[in-house]
Amino acid sequence: MATEIKGIAASEGYAIGRAVILREEAVPQGVTYVEAGEEAAELSRFDAAVAAARSELEELHARMIASGREKEAEIFEAHLMLLEDEELIGAAQERIRGQRYKAEAAINESGEEVAAMLASLDDEYLRERAADVRDVSRRVIRKLGHDTDADAVPAAATAATSSNEKSILFAFDLTPSDTAQLDPSVIGGFVTAVGGRTSHSAIIARSVGIPAIVGAGDKALRIEDGQLVIVDGAAGLVLVDPEDEELARYQALQEQAAGQRALLEQFRGQPSVSADGHQVELVANIGSVQDARQAQQQGAEGVGLFRTEFLYMGRPDLPTEEEQFTAYKEAAEAFGQAAPIVIRTMDIGGDKELPSLQLEKEDNPFLGYRAIRICLDRPDLFKTQLRAVLRASAYGNLKIMFPMIATLGEWRQAKALLEQAKQELRSEHVAFNERIEAGIMIEIPAAAQMADRFAREVDFFSIGTNDLVQYTMAADRMNPKLGYLSDPLHPPVLRLIHQVIRAAHKENKWVGMCGEMAGTPIAIPILLGLGLDEFSMSASAVLPARALLSRLDRAKLSSLAEAVLDMDDAEAVRSYVERQVPELRV
Ligand code: PEP
Ligand code: MG
Repeated sequence: MATEIKGIAASEGYAIGRAVILREEAVPQGVTYVEAGEEAAELSRFDAAVAAARSELEELHARMIASGREKEAEIFEAHLMLLEDEELIGAAQERIRGQRYKAEAAINESGEEVAAMLASLDDEYLRERAADVRDVSRRVIRKLGHDTDADAVPAAATAATSSNEKSILFAFDLTPSDTAQLDPSVIGGFVTAVGGRTSHSAIIARSVGIPAIVGAGDKALRIEDGQLVIVDGAAGLVLVDPEDEELARYQALQEQAAGQRALLEQFRGQPSVSADGHQVELVANIGSVQDARQAQQQGAEGVGLFRTEFLYMGRPDLPTEEEQFTAYKEAAEAFGQAAPIVIRTMDIGGDKELPSLQLEKEDNPFLGYRAIRICLDRPDLFKTQLRAVLRASAYGNLKIMFPMIATLGEWRQAKALLEQAKQELRSEHVAFNERIEAGIMIEIPAAAQMADRFAREVDFFSIGTNDLVQYTMAADRMNPKLGYLSDPLHPPVLRLIHQVIRAAHKENKWVGMCGEMAGTPIAIPILLGLGLDEFSMSASAVLPARALLSRLDRAKLSSLAEAVLDMDDAEAVRSYVERQVPELRV
């Protein structure tokens, strides 16, 4: 049996190849000083190194643009911005000027300081940016005369590669710029001892399609150069010195995955249409601007749910109107003018806490002070967000959506506050889309029951099955023991969905779904049969869903949808759909 090393699955896929271990570059340790009177000369040496690092980054940026690697180009753009950063470069200059630091020590210390600050944040994405800061300060150090191994990563990997075998890189960590320069024709995959799923290295690996495992710990560094290894990027598993049997199994998996990828690629940039020509929208659920960019690259047509509460979380204060405006505008810009971007107003409460609001602990947080209930109680907070969304609506096809609506009164109050925000902006002569659509989430059975009444007033519905299931089945969505109840295929849930779609269509309103159900293959034929217009899901589910849709005949699915409404339970529905829809099996 092979030796196994477990890590975090950072980029899916299987790679087989020979290990190449990257030893860490030596970084100057401790603080060293220059003599009194030499500060000015040291400062010019430092500025020259920064300038040289800038030219190198500009060249790398241009090279990435020329070869169509936009994602990687963005990283070098971010690094160029860091070279202008006061906290990094300004602080290093100050250390040389005021404390007589040697240039290497100055940039190393300010880099470590900024990186440590980022690493202490709750937000995983920001935390991972620490690696970018270190990357930039190392580049400046190399330009200070430690330049011998600038291209160590690509060089080491290429040198170790024989004509028909790829290299698998093993490193303590890979800097984002190292990763951006990896050539997938020679590098089969990589494994790092540290790092998380949202590190830039992991993001690039996914965008280039290199299988990768991060956070594999010290074991990843005890491999020897040239050992045969398998990287299972889906399971986050490395097999060292595999047996012939394991090798054969992974070779077969590799071939199968390549076939599936090629098949899915045909659906990128294509409309989402069924075999008999019925078109729907396949959009993504996101929680940040970064997610928006990724979702666009993964084939989503827009955003069906922007969980804006993530902008509020992981920080000690509340995001300002300006910060929110920028986030919504940039999310829209990631997709372009016409793409629909549904911004859901913040849904704090339930399992999502917000220290800055100091909410009281409740016995039943999922049945408590949550989402729109807080917003209507705190119009100051709500209006800031409404103004930000409205202002961003001048830059794209934004729509606004209120979560956890239970009564018509709540919807009308929320709508009235939206109107107030519009009126304020009008009187300030600030641009926004006067015809911005406003809709509600249907995630409380009370709202589903009253869908006919809501449909006369709202512009759209989006069904939140994650909550709708828990409230319909009285089964806490966080409780793993209740899996058999937390199933959207239970007919009572399907009946509510049916009722909501019918009510909306009667008033010529569109209906989407942004609960997990929308991206679940077994549910897609049912939802299509029930007439759902928009399916919002995690970005990675979009291309598989579009492929499945292209095989389905919508006309035949209305009778399937009708039949499942009358079944005993989720299990009966599941086995019926599996039998009736052979297209679910590729
Ligand atoms: C839902 O309830 O289905 C939903 C999409 O909202 P959230 O998961 O954010 O509660
Ligand atoms: Mg919900």
